[in-house]
Amino acid sequence: MTPLPLADRYARFRDAVFSGVEEPVLPSITTPMSELDLQSLWFAGAFGGKFTSTDGKTVCITDFGTWNSGAGPDFTGCAITVDGETLRGDIELDPDARDWERHQHGANADYDRVVLHLFFAAPQERFFTRTSQHREVTQVVLNTAVIANDARPNRNLAAARLGRCATPLREMEVSRVQSMLESAAQYRLEMKSKRLHRCVDVHGRDEAVYQALARALGYRNNQQPFTLLSQRLPLKQLLKIDAAKREALLFGVSGFLESIRVEDTEPETRAYLRQLWSEWWKRRNSCLRWLEEHQLPRWKLAATRPGNHPQRRLGALAAMLNVWPQIVAPLADATRWSQAAWRESLLALTHEFWSTHYTLLAAPAIKPIALIGETRVQEMLANVAYPLLVPERTRLWAEYLELPALLDNQKLRRAVLRLFGDDGSGKNFTRRLHHQQGLLQIYEDFCLEDDSACANCPFPERLKEWS
Ligand code: SF4
Repeated sequence: MTPLPLADRYARFRDAVFSGVEEPVLPSITTPMSELDLQSLWFAGAFGGKFTSTDGKTVCITDFGTWNSGAGPDFTGCAITVDGETLRGDIELDPDARDWERHQHGANADYDRVVLHLFFAAPQERFFTRTSQHREVTQVVLNTAVIANDARPNRNLAAARLGRCATPLREMEVSRVQSMLESAAQYRLEMKSKRLHRCVDVHGRDEAVYQALARALGYRNNQQPFTLLSQRLPLKQLLKIDAAKREALLFGVSGFLESIRVEDTEPETRAYLRQLWSEWWKRRNSCLRWLEEHQLPRWKLAATRPGNHPQRRLGALAAMLNVWPQIVAPLADATRWSQAAWRESLLALTHEFWSTHYTLLAAPAIKPIALIGETRVQEMLANVAYPLLVPERTRLWAEYLELPALLDNQKLRRAVLRLFGDDGSGKNFTRRLHHQQGLLQIYEDFCLEDDSACANCPFPERLKEWS
């Protein structure tokens, strides 16, 4: 991947601003992250693929395997190398090394194929991981600081008020502010790109694109459930079955079929539900244990607009999978990429049921609604297409700079308010997508790290160093 010069400039500015300042508090294992979240991050490659074991050996993950939905270890069919020797088997991930014995894995033959035990905390005295055959299992302690940099859990928003940096920003020449936002936007894109390409390294390009598109469909409240769903129902599995089975699996595993009472639905919806259930009931039992254990996914439905409802977004994912080659092929080669053609293929997606329904309980819409609208396409360009392609063909950065600002959310509004106020002085810096991305990056790097109501934030004083 080609390094991006503006991103590097912002990274140096950011690091210089924080030099001499107490390190921002990053989430650690004490931050409430569930085992499921940690497993999801591991499976997305967020911790990397090369480690040192507790006994000093070099461990490389060559195949992350399959996230196991049944009994037994967390990840099955994996391959690792330990000091160059290839081992094939399963991987178990626990918050604490002692969970291996607490959960009696050492006496359970289902765990005899485990070749790697991952954990985040361990007792002071040496703890060995052993199978029921008394084979010692290689151990790796995962470092949560690695994920803290670019996969932090959502943090609370900063207070909605004018910040101390608004005055120096207003006094800066427009070109300097724009140059800073452009650099911050490129830095943000580079971070997204690294995360996406890590997933490409772990699962291959098509699978990584599928997971990233699913995540984009979950924006903003349901990113995590969509990510989990796409990790649990991998593309390679879904493309092996026909469209009806695929859609039934997506809606069944999502829990939406179990949670809807048919008598509460419209006649047209009942026909659609019957179609889904006719396939789901055949797989339901095998999936049920997993659903009971993990209660997956935990959808956030409160304060979700009908157009953003995860049921409708899941319908959009099913529609995408029905024409998958036409969605993924344009992303295969950065030199042949056409933004207009990709945009058109997303906007043209339709679905027999979801093109006229917002949810499984809603009455049909009077006229068809776009399954994926302009804003969602913009989200996919910002979070999937350009992060994937720009480092492979840096000339695409100029195209990215031209994208208009379509996104609107509370975090963005708050970033504009804090950095520029609400008197319209920020209007030169909010017209394009890259402006919004740059603002969000500065907001996350400074406002969300500040707990002094701006008093101790180093950003305003250091602004003059941006020449
Ligand atoms: S925390 Fe810093 S960057 Fe954020 S509004 Fe206050 S002074 Fe500006």
